[in-house]
Amino acid sequence: MSELFLRTLRDDPAEAEVPSHKLLIRAGYVRPIAPGLYSWLPLGLRVLRRIERIVREEMVAIGGQEILFPALLPRAPYEATNRWTEYGDGVFRLKDRRDNDYMLGPTHEEFFTLTVKGEYSSYKDLPLLLFQIQTKYRDEARPRAGILRGREFVMKDSYSFDLDDDGLRRVYQAHRRAYQNMFDRMAIRYVIVSAMSGAMGGSASEEFLAESEVGEDTFVRCVQSGYAANVEAVTTAVPAAISIDGLPDATVHETGDTPTIVTLVDWANSAGLGRTVTAADTLKNVMLKIRRPGGEWELLAIGLPGDREVDDKRLEAALSPAEYAFLDDADFARNTFLCKGYIGPEALRANGVRYLLDPRIVDGTSWITGADEPGRHVVGLVAGRDFSGDGTIEAAEVRDGDLSPDGAGPLVSARGIEIGHIFQLGRKYTDTFSADVLGEDGKPVRLTMGSYGVGVSRLVAVIAEQHHDGLGLRWPSSVSPFDVHVVMANKDAEARSGAEQLAAGLDEAGLEVLLDDRTASPGVKFKDAELIGVPWILVVGRGWANGTVELRNRFDGEVREVSVDSALAEITALFATAGE
Ligand code: ATP
Ligand code: MG
Repeated sequence: MSELFLRTLRDDPAEAEVPSHKLLIRAGYVRPIAPGLYSWLPLGLRVLRRIERIVREEMVAIGGQEILFPALLPRAPYEATNRWTEYGDGVFRLKDRRDNDYMLGPTHEEFFTLTVKGEYSSYKDLPLLLFQIQTKYRDEARPRAGILRGREFVMKDSYSFDLDDDGLRRVYQAHRRAYQNMFDRMAIRYVIVSAMSGAMGGSASEEFLAESEVGEDTFVRCVQSGYAANVEAVTTAVPAAISIDGLPDATVHETGDTPTIVTLVDWANSAGLGRTVTAADTLKNVMLKIRRPGGEWELLAIGLPGDREVDDKRLEAALSPAEYAFLDDADFARNTFLCKGYIGPEALRANGVRYLLDPRIVDGTSWITGADEPGRHVVGLVAGRDFSGDGTIEAAEVRDGDLSPDGAGPLVSARGIEIGHIFQLGRKYTDTFSADVLGEDGKPVRLTMGSYGVGVSRLVAVIAEQHHDGLGLRWPSSVSPFDVHVVMANKDAEARSGAEQLAAGLDEAGLEVLLDDRTASPGVKFKDAELIGVPWILVVGRGWANGTVELRNRFDGEVREVSVDSALAEITALFATAGE
């Protein structure tokens, strides 16, 4: 440590918001360069390299072959898939001296597809799995939390090429297991969530989310069944339909000035309806306009129980690839049949507005909703009898306590950080580039692809986020910058040379050793050791005179005395059994 390029900081950097960011800077792992750009100092780079190694090993274990593309990429292939345009402000674009367009690669589907098309021509060459561990560039709108969301970051991306859907499913499952292995080896607590609603085809896309309060993703899970899903992907547990027989007729009421759900519920509870009414008994109709790619704006109404808000992310996912906007005053002015605050299913139907219902609005449910005139509502409007939708939509907010779609128990929400994503792409890119091989029967076969990402540099921060305490970082052995941190805490010349010998012995045994040989006080050294977070700290201190040293485990807090003579054997044994 007297030579290590390292300066630890006593205080938290002012700009750092989350614990991992503060600690990685304080402990001298990374340094900020510009928003979303960091340099890796020796300790940080060691962790990054160890994570890369684990990722690489698990990719090779499932048959992946490593290649490496440039980060600087020409425009043409991205033009073919329209992503040059779609990326918008999300990528860094630049020109060369001849005025040709380039970008810094945010992801590489195009080049993998073109490369495989260029090299392979027969079914005999397939299946194929390629990966790279590479620096990616994205001009993120909000770079945040240090290396958690950078504008330059390291990603493992892999792409599978198969002749048929069965092959794709197999390699998808292999990735799923490989990711579980790698994240388990890194001691990460994570969940696998479906990233797409069932409508899009089951497990065609899943995300690995590290559990963390500072995460930007919200997911829900059901403790009883283990169901977990991104909020966007949650499907509503649909209640059973109710018999319509004998339900009272719908009646229109003068409700006064009641344009909001709150005012409507107040009215209903003072109107002598013979029951207590809550917002959940009202049907709210939310007006939007949507536009499919290349299409015109059209009106869309969403009917949902009045106690629920529309969740923007769920709405966006449900409508994708169409874009949407809520109606503004000018839109209402143009569509005079829409009586703001009193919109009901009747005017929507009469004017041909597409109307999608929340899945809870099953046949036989009875609602209080707008009667399409100011100050009037209809009570007892029954779904399936008095109105119906053109389909259902998963756009209402998901709440803690909602029933899990498998019916096993309530949903509980938590936050997570996306660390990996596996995705059955299918033929999206191979269609664009006509990536075919000759099949067994001599006819061309269009290849089917999967794409799979891991946020390698993000993992450094994720592990720091999950494994730290008030004193500093606490690395799991598998990714720690060093295996053992030997602290000289005794000025005595014999103790110092004893510590040096112990360190040399550990080094000879194949362990990575950090030796604190500085002249600083023991207190300063202990503080630094705790901040840096190497899991095993070997203290050569006062006990030296009695032939003992202290072995501290930073990961689980255990402290024990060991005799100087057996220290070497004990520590090397720890690593032998750890299987690393
Ligand atoms: P996010 O929703 O977090 O922006 P994404 O959906 O854009 O992620 P992918 O394009 O699937 O992510 O990239 C694969 C992996 O790369 C992600 O799972 C994540 O771990 C990592 N990653 C993505 N963007 C960043 C970033 N700006 N900084 C660090 N890691 C990132
Ligand atoms: Mg992103």
